[in-house]
Amino acid sequence: MKFTVVGAGAMGLRYGVLLQEAGNEVEFVDAWEPHVNKMKENGGVYVTRDRQNRHLVPVKVYTPEEYTNTDADVLIFFLKQMQLADMLERCKHFFTPDQYVLTGMNGMGHVKKLLNYFDGSKLIAGTALIATILKAPGEVDFVGKVGAGSMNLANYTEEPDEMTHKVVAELAKANINPTLTTNFQGTLMAKVVFNSVVNTLCTLFEITMGEYAAFEKADELSLALINEAYDVCERAGVKMLNSRQEELDTVNYVSKVANPLHYPSMYQDMSKNRPTEVDYINGYLVDLGRKYNYEAHTHAFLTNLVHLAEHTRQQRQN
Ligand code: NAD
Repeated sequence: MKFTVVGAGAMGLRYGVLLQEAGNEVEFVDAWEPHVNKMKENGGVYVTRDRQNRHLVPVKVYTPEEYTNTDADVLIFFLKQMQLADMLERCKHFFTPDQYVLTGMNGMGHVKKLLNYFDGSKLIAGTALIATILKAPGEVDFVGKVGAGSMNLANYTEEPDEMTHKVVAELAKANINPTLTTNFQGTLMAKVVFNSVVNTLCTLFEITMGEYAAFEKADELSLALINEAYDVCERAGVKMLNSRQEELDTVNYVSKVANPLHYPSMYQDMSKNRPTEVDYINGYLVDLGRKYNYEAHTHAFLTNLVHLAEHTRQQRQN
């Protein structure tokens, strides 16, 4: 199968390199020029796993304007939410009506934007429970052992077709451990709720997931956010995959057992003085609640706190 990965950042590289190593043809399109230039100069990307075994993986990488191939079976989108609209416009010359689209971006907002360019019958979206760090231009670190991490995904139509099963089979061969569901909104929202707790609080307090979960009042904090998010989702008619208690259990399992030493990706953005995706996570829940005359006060407060932290860092830099 041929994949074009749009967004060769941490996750685009993780998926693309693993799919390439599983025998697929993969090309990368990226707009961050120092990164694209470094990979071209080196003839590939330097990959480490848990900061060990640095080695060069050859990759084909292009800027959006350079790339003209229209023969990919699947386009994979891995960008930060606020980068997507511009990137879609810059890349639209290589989209065709037959191509499938796969994305595992965090937050919400991307689905609506992708549907401006692709038919819903071709859209497969999911959530990646996989941690990866773009350390510097041309340098990526895959967190976790081979086979670590997993993803949940669903068709926008909620009706998996033959091509979806083929894509899932390639993801499985690449050790990405996919689980296909038939609940589109519920699958995506489970991760939005998870991130609205863990990413946001760990980022604000500059702590690892393990440090957060070890705090004696962590469950109280998590439940306040989970309950409010579920109140929003219930009003919006989203059928959640997990109960509130199961969502809390997931927060604790992932933070205490699976990734205790990990700083969530939102923290990584904050620490590099890049804008965070908070408006598409906690902020998304606030906006969705308001459509149904429900005020998600805690999520609104946290969204503002993250913006205050971003603002403060910017001010100090200047
Ligand atoms: P990323 O920031 O590594 O890359 C996204 C894009 O930003 C790429 O095009 C990259 O080249 C560009 N970029 C990176 N650093 C830049 C800089 N300093 N200046 C300018 N451009 C820069 O993002 P990611 O971690 O791959 O995340 C993509 C999506 O996947 C997001 O929605 C994220 O929340 C989600 N996600 C990330 C992880 C993770 O562990 N990284 C896990 C699950 C989901």
